[in-house]
Amino acid sequence: MLGAFLDKKARRLYVILQNFPCSWNRCTFCPFWLEAAKDYVELDRTNRQIITAVDWAVRRYAVRRVSVYNGGSFFELPLATIQALRDSVRGLQLDIESRPEFVTFESIRDIVQLFRPWRLYVRVGIDSFDESIRNQVLNKGISQHQIDRLVEVRRMCRREWGGRVLFYTYVLFGMQGVDEESVRRSVVELKRRFDGVIAIRYRRYLPRHPPPTPVSNELVEWLRQECVSIDFADSPMWNIRPGKIEIHL
Ligand code: SF4
Repeated sequence: MLGAFLDKKARRLYVILQNFPCSWNRCTFCPFWLEAAKDYVELDRTNRQIITAVDWAVRRYAVRRVSVYNGGSFFELPLATIQALRDSVRGLQLDIESRPEFVTFESIRDIVQLFRPWRLYVRVGIDSFDESIRNQVLNKGISQHQIDRLVEVRRMCRREWGGRVLFYTYVLFGMQGVDEESVRRSVVELKRRFDGVIAIRYRRYLPRHPPPTPVSNELVEWLRQECVSIDFADSPMWNIRPGKIEIHL
């Protein structure tokens, strides 16, 4: 869904902005291009509407944390959208998502300087640590070298900002071709290198997407213990409705 979703108890706002199709746009399971903008006019109109709601909600509910998604990388959003958002959420805890190739020490420094976040969570969809699963089954286009480089970026950020900038990675589970043992290995290896892992339950959107698989209770229990959180992809935020904006405040 595009829009905003408020968790009043946690005072956390989830914001799903519109973007152009992700520059990679080749992951085998990806549905996000379905909600992408056709042109800049559409994108600007959609995001202004969402950010107006964000601005109101941040003030009305004393929001502490804003998690921003845009069906790709935060760094691919137009500057005007980023600046408009900044005016509403500066100084709060901020989550952004990105493919690893956009994450450099300099790009993170820009975000820190622009948003002055109380804490910044940089979320990267590695999805599997196993290179053949990652690049053949999922077609992520993320080399091992890219992961090593990201580890180094995280080290530099740690030196500069300490625990104020955290790097989380996603690990996907419940999809054909992604066996449970590989999921456990991914979590273990990525936890060693980054600040935490968020496990994401695969959800199929199109017939040509890989089939989902059942998930054992043992794996779910293990993920609960090892991960920052598990997202079962069952909230309204995971509904794909091209052309619709939903505001749940
Ligand atoms: S990187 Fe993310 S948005 Fe881009 S194609 Fe892959 S899953 Fe989709």
